[in-house]
Amino acid sequence: MAHRDDDVIVNALVRQALSSTQEVMGENGLNAVLRASGLERFIGNFPPNDLAPGIKTADYARLNQAIEDFYGRAGRGMLRRIGKASFQYGVREQAALLGIAGAALKLLPEKQRIKFILNSMAGALKKSNPNVNAWVEDGERLAYIEDTCGICHSRTSAEPICHLYVGSIGEAVHWATGKSFRITETQCMAKGDPYCRFTAWQRAILIAALKLVRQPVIENAVGFSPKIMCDFAETLSDSLSYDTLSAVLDKAGLPIAWANCEYFTALDDVQSAQFYSRLQAALRTYYGRGARGILLRIGGNLWQRLLNQAAIGIKAQAAIIRGLPITLRRKRALDLLARLLSDKPGDSTVHTLDPDLIFVDHASPTTLGQSDVAPVCFVTLGMIRECLYWATGYEHDIEEISCRARGAKDCEFKITIGG
Ligand SMILES: [Zn+2]
Ligand SMILES: [Zn+2]
Repeated sequence: MAHRDDDVIVNALVRQALSSTQEVMGENGLNAVLRASGLERFIGNFPPNDLAPGIKTADYARLNQAIEDFYGRAGRGMLRRIGKASFQYGVREQAALLGIAGAALKLLPEKQRIKFILNSMAGALKKSNPNVNAWVEDGERLAYIEDTCGICHSRTSAEPICHLYVGSIGEAVHWATGKSFRITETQCMAKGDPYCRFTAWQRAILIAALKLVRQPVIENAVGFSPKIMCDFAETLSDSLSYDTLSAVLDKAGLPIAWANCEYFTALDDVQSAQFYSRLQAALRTYYGRGARGILLRIGGNLWQRLLNQAAIGIKAQAAIIRGLPITLRRKRALDLLARLLSDKPGDSTVHTLDPDLIFVDHASPTTLGQSDVAPVCFVTLGMIRECLYWATGYEHDIEEISCRARGAKDCEFKITIGG
């Protein structure tokens, strides 16, 4: 069907969206985003719980956009929480519409339970509005699909943006199974796909698959934090899209599960380092001459992600660094990055070569098992670049002057500060 200008959302669903947004953002937060999206008429005045047309779907999409803008980088998590609250509201207030009143799921196998609740969601949407088109795809993994998605209506984005939907589906699957699944939006109309498509990954299955490939721990081997490896996978699927990342893995003969953060969180540090190097090698092969630019950008995104998700102590340090005079910020910011990246203390260090700086990656998990005629540590370079930009607001001239992939002892990045 696709999006049309005259698409509408019915009152009951507007009410559900507003109630759950208020639950998560508070009344002031809700009112702010209502004003920002031109929906002031709903301030203190929710529509009734009926199936009359409530708002244009484009307005509903604008509300989603306003919430995302309101929270900046935290918008995605916030929208997922709203989606979650929204499903709970549906169970509480609209069980009949959902068709779940008195459902006896306990006797069904897990996949059937998931299918049941996804079908119920699609059914409720279609019942409430005949213009809505949603269905469930029953393959190796179940997928929920809608080609009239209201969240991304008349929006465009390079990445999937229907985070509220992800939250609702996750909560629905949890309601039906009692277990947490990771929901991934694999396609989104905002990025030109014909529909929005969501799949469910079960954590336990990923971890079981992982146990098969566990290896003995090697003393003194190069390590890399599984937590950062997980962030790297998330950054990749955000920056490249899940589809592209799947294609990269497929072409390199790597497991498709590598596109998921959870796959890595159960690794040990040594294995994580090996996978970090193999995944980057796969990306370099896939992108060929374009790899440098893409990996630099990914390194930049990874730095932002690490900083965003850092512990309170690191965040406090980061705030202190940005309060220093600019000339002092660079070294301190790079010290912070070196500490974040070091699996063992001293894996990465920063040195002053007045007036320039040298970032030395002694461990360099990127280069494990790699040999090349040119330096390969684009992701690290991208992180250094973004870190310095974050600290100072200026672009810096950075070069990897020696690389372990070329047989050097360390990877060294020179940051030219003097002319
Ligand atoms: Zn969508
Ligand atoms: Zn290197």
